[in-house]
Amino acid sequence: MKCNNITYHSGKVTEQDRFKVLGQKGVVVWLTGLSGSGKSTIAVEVEKILNSIGKAVYRLDGDNIRFGLNSDLGFTEEDRMENIRRISEVCALFQDAGLIVIASFISPMAKMRHMAREKSKGKFIEVYVKTNVETCIKRDPKGLYKKALVGEIKEFTGISAPYEEPENPDITLDTESSTLNECVEQLVKKILTVTTL
Ligand code: ADP
Repeated sequence: MKCNNITYHSGKVTEQDRFKVLGQKGVVVWLTGLSGSGKSTIAVEVEKILNSIGKAVYRLDGDNIRFGLNSDLGFTEEDRMENIRRISEVCALFQDAGLIVIASFISPMAKMRHMAREKSKGKFIEVYVKTNVETCIKRDPKGLYKKALVGEIKEFTGISAPYEEPENPDITLDTESSTLNECVEQLVKKILTVTTL
């Protein structure tokens, strides 16, 4: 915190008031997993279904955010933390506004996911998109593993940088044993139980 002379100014509209207008509770749905595990693919489908049944939903995705808000950040440990810190703040604001926020970020360290949960005051579903690294290498949807394996990309999660598996996720989607549709269905169900007024 760099400023001293700031005071929080409360409004007259509460979170509950906003939820009532939207007919739903806001929540942050945080998808974590290796690159290529299926986070973005699942997020896109879940967003489409929730929107089609009249839910206020918004998707935030790793690369997309780096084009704008976080275009000044790279992939050092410090920048990765700052990337997640800003995203966590945005998620918390959208959640408070009443939205279902679907955030897909590798977020390899437990402390990153912990920070995101804290900022949204626990109104948070941690989704572990579980896929082993061999399968991710085979899928390699963006050709990144190919580059990482020959050292063209440094500190690549799962290859040359660690991924800390979630110890206690709210839901695990195993994209090896379940189809895309099954993963999507499971997650939509979970979201609806948490966001129904
Ligand atoms: P991430 O966002 O985690 O980096 P992507 O969603 O970009 O991963 O890529 C995952 C790839 O895996 C896609 O090509 C997708 O079609 C494929 N895939 C195979 N099975 C599944 C599944 N059950 N769920 C999600 N994606 C799957």
